[in-house]
Amino acid sequence: MSQLKFDLHCHSNVSDGLLPPEQVAARAHAHGVGVWALTDHDELGGVARARAAAQALGMHHVGGVEISVTWAGQTVHVVGLRVDETNPALIAGLAATRNGRERRAREIADELDKVGICGAYEGALQHVGNPDLISRTHFARHMVERGHCGDTKEVFANYLTEGKPGYVPHRWATLDEAVAWIRGAGGVAVIAHPGRYKYSPLQFGALFDQFKQLGGAAIEVTTGSHSPEQYEEYAQVARHYGFLASMGSDFHGPGESRVDLGELPPLSRGLTPVWHDWGF
Ligand code: AMP
Ligand code: MN
Ligand code: MN
Ligand code: MN
Repeated sequence: MSQLKFDLHCHSNVSDGLLPPEQVAARAHAHGVGVWALTDHDELGGVARARAAAQALGMHHVGGVEISVTWAGQTVHVVGLRVDETNPALIAGLAATRNGRERRAREIADELDKVGICGAYEGALQHVGNPDLISRTHFARHMVERGHCGDTKEVFANYLTEGKPGYVPHRWATLDEAVAWIRGAGGVAVIAHPGRYKYSPLQFGALFDQFKQLGGAAIEVTTGSHSPEQYEEYAQVARHYGFLASMGSDFHGPGESRVDLGELPPLSRGLTPVWHDWGF
């Protein structure tokens, strides 16, 4: 088995990360990553820059994206790995998925205004690296800067999430669309951080079955968005459903993420890594 270190999930300021793609590449390389994918939310704008930076460092690179999906009323993230970032259907699909973000951001600001947090739209914009991709993370950073909360985790615990001030429901892509766009662009579809979703056991079963039927191939097992106990839990899920296993830090920026680039333990034995046939 490959001795290379894999980090197949992280973000740059082309979506809601803090660093530009070149600096994410340099940090991954400095942390010993051998095969790296930048997976910005609903955006491919950083992929060519990521590849160029990785090549200059002698690090393997695979094209990546993390697509926002609405399934059974909740948001699920589907990572695409080894996607061709020039694929027109994928590009158009992501553009459509991003489309409502601006209006949603204004609605989030209106909701925050009602609880006395004023000017949040303009404040969040100050943190945006890509005007097409204003995210809740940018609101969270603004609210930390203004002292409403101590860190972004605290913001999400008290605001911007279901039942809390500043929550605005949103309809993203469908699961069918996301998987079809990824596969159409030559990629592998991966359910990101399954441990984060609040589905019943029955719903989880239906999600995994449907994903598999659509041609989804993998789930993230070891991710910075899972607790170490969840690494084992989702290893069992991968074995049960016959999914390939992926791993990635989900790094967003220094001091903001539980796990830094390249810091995760390797996948447990008995799993087939998503990269098993990539030639590494
Ligand atoms: P959006 O795509 O605008 O809905 O924003 C989703 C992003 O918010 C995720 O990709 C995470 O980066 C961040 N996020 C969501 N929930 C949390 C949380 N509980 N703690 C920290 N960050 C979160
Ligand atoms: Mn994010
Ligand atoms: Mn995610
Ligand atoms: Mn992510």
